[in-house]
Amino acid sequence: MKSSKVVVIGTGFVGMSYAYSLVNQGAVEELVLIDIDKEKAIGESMDLNHGLAFAPRKMKIYAGDYKDCEDATLVVITAGVSQKDGETRIDLLKRNAVIMKSVVNNVMKSGFEGIFLVASNPVDILSYVVWKESGLPSHRIIGSGTTLDTARLRFEIASKINVYERNVHAYVLGEHGDSEFVCWSNAYVGVKPIRDVIEDMEEINFEDLDQIYKNVKNAAYEIIQRKKATYYGIGMSLVRITKAVLNNENRILPISVLNDGTYNISKDIYIGLPALINKDGIHHIIKLKLDIDEQVKLSNSANILRNHLADMGY
Ligand code: NAD
Repeated sequence: MKSSKVVVIGTGFVGMSYAYSLVNQGAVEELVLIDIDKEKAIGESMDLNHGLAFAPRKMKIYAGDYKDCEDATLVVITAGVSQKDGETRIDLLKRNAVIMKSVVNNVMKSGFEGIFLVASNPVDILSYVVWKESGLPSHRIIGSGTTLDTARLRFEIASKINVYERNVHAYVLGEHGDSEFVCWSNAYVGVKPIRDVIEDMEEINFEDLDQIYKNVKNAAYEIIQRKKATYYGIGMSLVRITKAVLNNENRILPISVLNDGTYNISKDIYIGLPALINKDGIHHIIKLKLDIDEQVKLSNSANILRNHLADMGY
């Protein structure tokens, strides 16, 4: 296995925003692009290569094939299809699951021994499908989970009180979707609990928290309405997770993970929880003390995901 070789499968908006961020951050040595539309992958690799003269490191970028996954450290799945007119959510889900199965089978046939990072939606469901279909141990399948939603939360709080996003420590947990929730009981600015921040600052009050949550939850709808898709935020979120793996960072991120019983919800789902990420993938889930309301929300999210999986025959 090479020390930092990443294969991106799906060179659409998300895949290429991720690839572009990787190049700009010099995060990887070798970058392979795969798409069902081979010409698109070739064109994208040419375009990226023309930026290398200005990139922070020497890199190898090319449009490849599934055999290139053999010695990859990370395979990142950003392939997907969108909803057809009149198509139900569950039919779309089944269609994306079929794509996911063929992608995973092709990757595994190469002799791949690395880690999968899944961004295609619905990400919790599809991460589970990748886990099941690959036969790999669950710590080697990471879903992007609520990493993006959490970045949105940090932006919302940071803007409200005019601090740096990196000083906001708070998570969105649960399904990457409508049932996600903010874990306010464990939210901090610097080392100060959010309730103390609210007590001490005029800029923010308890009523604002609900609006912040709504802004986070509805962000994707708001962006899609205006520009049809969201991709920069997720691209950078995926780079963050990638660097945690490639640099063996032991970094805590709210990714989609197979619940191993750390939380008192179904053990047979992938769901957004904070976990420690390093070169082995998901090292362990971080247990937070949730309040009763948050525990109910997490269970609700878990039940929704389990029911979708059951509808799909898992
Ligand atoms: P897009 O349509 O621009 O790109 C999808 C790409 O996948 C296309 O280039 C297509 O040719 C390719 N593709 C389709 N089937 C394939 C297959 N079988 N093998 C290889 N490539 C295949 O879509 P996008 O905007 O880039 O979104 C991609 C996925 O990312 C969607 O599922 C979207 O919902 C998801 N997404 C996730 C998050 C998140 O937070 N996890 C955020 C935004 C978007």
